[in-house]
Amino acid sequence: MGINNKRLVNWVLLSSLLLVPLKAYAGKDTWNNIEKSKHFIIYYQDASSDYINRLVREAERCYRNITTYLGFMRFDFWIWDNRCKIFLYPDEETYLGATGVISWSRGHVQIAKKEISTYMWQEMLFDTILPHEMGHIIFREFVGYNKALPLWLDEGVACMQEYESKERLATAKCLVNLKLYTHLDDLSKISDSSVIIPFIFYNESASIVDFLLRRFGRNKFVDFCRSLRDQPDWVQSLRGVYRIKNLDELEKLWVEDQTEN
Ligand SMILES: [Zn+2]
Repeated sequence: MGINNKRLVNWVLLSSLLLVPLKAYAGKDTWNNIEKSKHFIIYYQDASSDYINRLVREAERCYRNITTYLGFMRFDFWIWDNRCKIFLYPDEETYLGATGVISWSRGHVQIAKKEISTYMWQEMLFDTILPHEMGHIIFREFVGYNKALPLWLDEGVACMQEYESKERLATAKCLVNLKLYTHLDDLSKISDSSVIIPFIFYNESASIVDFLLRRFGRNKFVDFCRSLRDQPDWVQSLRGVYRIKNLDELEKLWVEDQTEN
């Protein structure tokens, strides 16, 4: 199971772009076209109806996939005035100029506002950017926007929504078997994306979230999220729901799982 270099470079870039600092939008009044679906309001400037129809289809598909994956199907919170807004710029230049984000940004999210900003005709829009950013919004909407949680939990949930999440899991397994992973107590102290080694951080985060869901099931994960929402300390939720007493024990179980077979 070798680590493909091209993928590595892609992921380093991607991992960075998904954590672009949030900035105010400029020129929102220039949106002259709006398309509404059950869970989305799409603002666009210049796009064919075919492209917008595809975006609506893909966004609704992502919503279904993410809520199913997390076990949130019964909580239909994205309707009517609560719909997620997608601001679709016609190209990279317009997007960068209007949002003022870093030049390699491909998309960014304002989680509490439920707004995703991105641009057309990029390869990763439907498979990676949309599902990742929507994963952030859906998870936080459930557990609370201001809840103090380790960054790996947010990013793990978001990364697992990407089309190529299996690649992340395979890579994390390699990292564990090579003993190149970050210990969970250190991983849990990371709260600033600028101090992350993206290649390790994002893949490991995805792998731990996948482990919790795979080993204990969706119902437990919903219980865990409910407890995250209601309890002050997230490790207490780990203990209460999963009977995992601390990060060392979680790490031990996860490493055993990754080194089996
Ligand atoms: Zn992210």
